[in-house]
Amino acid sequence: MPATTLDQLVSLCKRRGFVFPSSEIYGGLQGVFDWGPLGVELKNNIISSWWRTNVYERDDMEGLDAAILMNRLTWRYSGHEETFNDPLVDCRDCKSRWRADHIKGRCPNCGSTNLTEPRPFNMMFKTAVGPVADADSFAYLRPETAQGIFVNFGNVLATSNRKLPFGIAQVGKAFRNEINPRNFLFRVREFEQMEIEYFVMPGTEDEWHQRWLEDRLAWWESIGIPRARIKIYDVPPDELAHYSKRTFDLMYDYPTLGHEEVEGIASRTDYDLGSHSRDQETLNLTARANPNRDSTARLTYYDPESRRHIVPFVIEPSAGVGRCFLAVLAEAYDEQMVKAPPPERVHAVTDALEAFLKSVGRNEKLAPETRDALVERGQAILAGLPETMPQIETLLAMPGADQIETGKKLRGQAQGPIDEYFRTVLHLKPHLAPIRVAVFPLKRNHEGLVAMARELRTAIQSGSFFRTVYDDTGAIGKLYRRQDEIGTPYCVTVDFQSLEDGTVTVRDRDTMQQVRIPASEVRAYVTGRG
Ligand code: ATP
Repeated sequence: MPATTLDQLVSLCKRRGFVFPSSEIYGGLQGVFDWGPLGVELKNNIISSWWRTNVYERDDMEGLDAAILMNRLTWRYSGHEETFNDPLVDCRDCKSRWRADHIKGRCPNCGSTNLTEPRPFNMMFKTAVGPVADADSFAYLRPETAQGIFVNFGNVLATSNRKLPFGIAQVGKAFRNEINPRNFLFRVREFEQMEIEYFVMPGTEDEWHQRWLEDRLAWWESIGIPRARIKIYDVPPDELAHYSKRTFDLMYDYPTLGHEEVEGIASRTDYDLGSHSRDQETLNLTARANPNRDSTARLTYYDPESRRHIVPFVIEPSAGVGRCFLAVLAEAYDEQMVKAPPPERVHAVTDALEAFLKSVGRNEKLAPETRDALVERGQAILAGLPETMPQIETLLAMPGADQIETGKKLRGQAQGPIDEYFRTVLHLKPHLAPIRVAVFPLKRNHEGLVAMARELRTAIQSGSFFRTVYDDTGAIGKLYRRQDEIGTPYCVTVDFQSLEDGTVTVRDRDTMQQVRIPASEVRAYVTGRG
């Protein structure tokens, strides 16, 4: 079963070092996160899978890596200076600030409806360029990677000799001064995008839009997100961005949040290339492009058949790396009961949980929302015991739980059975797993076992594109659990039989079954399986 709450993922990411709050020792920076040792591996694997599918496995794509800082005129003619705004409201009572379309007329902080009228707030960050800070010496941090592709259209076309249709792919950082960053990695101020601008002959855009929708859904499936978990939102005309003819938003069913956008696939007409071109009156544009007196180029394509210069139409599949990372984790997450705990231990936990919920209900110091959230979650866990027992850890990490005295007793009763009878496992596709193989010696103080395990790790690692680690910091059972929790598909154990006949055991993360094979075959075994 996928994750049921966002808190389960937040807690895993913190516990195992996938994601850290940025500059945490100074109190952090809202809406900014750092990728820890396992997070950077998973993120890089997601990006390489996207790049492989969209650049290497097609013969109509090129890659690009444009700079984050660009001439600010880019953002004037793209329309961002004028229109990249969110509606901002202030709460007159508690002085907090909100995005109007996210709060339904009521302040989420104090409940007041005494709000200011919404006013536009531009989300682009500014920075000073060069030593003299005057009114003209600023640049924006890009709010999307797309514009780097559009302004390079002519360069790529001239150097690659591409014919339409073809596309340009780019992965890189984008920055948005979101009014209320929230929901962990879902809405942040610094994030990465994986974007494609696919250039087509005018008139063929609808067909290509549908094809990209199918191609993108197939990629999501290949990284472990089944189609059934994504809703396609055909954005109604009155919600479309000014450049878009039609947009499909892919909405993943996130735990806690429900269906939210993970990728947008927009049909952007000739708006972008047209807006960045000079001599627009000669281009027969269909879009209402921004009149441009500064560009030095016409971003057109010479069509040998009609012998005319045309402005291609554009299909843009654009996905956020962080939102993808969250979806992949949510889908892979599983808390499994490996063996049923004995009834008396389940009773003890049930009693402790009931007592905890009673104390929560009686506690006057907790804010009503905090109390309700704890009770609601606790009741759901109670109803699902014993299967839901591991969720008690997340319950106890919720705001307010630390103020409940009986929480300690509950933790005391639950921790033992959780460790003994349950496991958290990430069923990640092997090509995404931060670590593909972990090698253990059966005993860490046995020289022969340690030497063979270390050598085997080096042999598996050498020349492969995935990560292999050695670990001897616990008993084998514990090491298996730790690797399960971070999604390592294969654990290899070197035991006494290995010293005699050169075979080792390979344990499969999902089935927990072991096979015994020659150590020399492990690399091929784990490589061949994804
Ligand atoms: P939203 O409506 O959620 O603000 P958007 O429609 O503005 O998103 P796009 O401009 O279409 O988003 O950006 C493309 C992709 O970039 C989104 O599908 C999302 O995955 C990602 N993205 C956009 N804004 C953020 C953000 N603040 N934090 C994390 N990812 C983001």
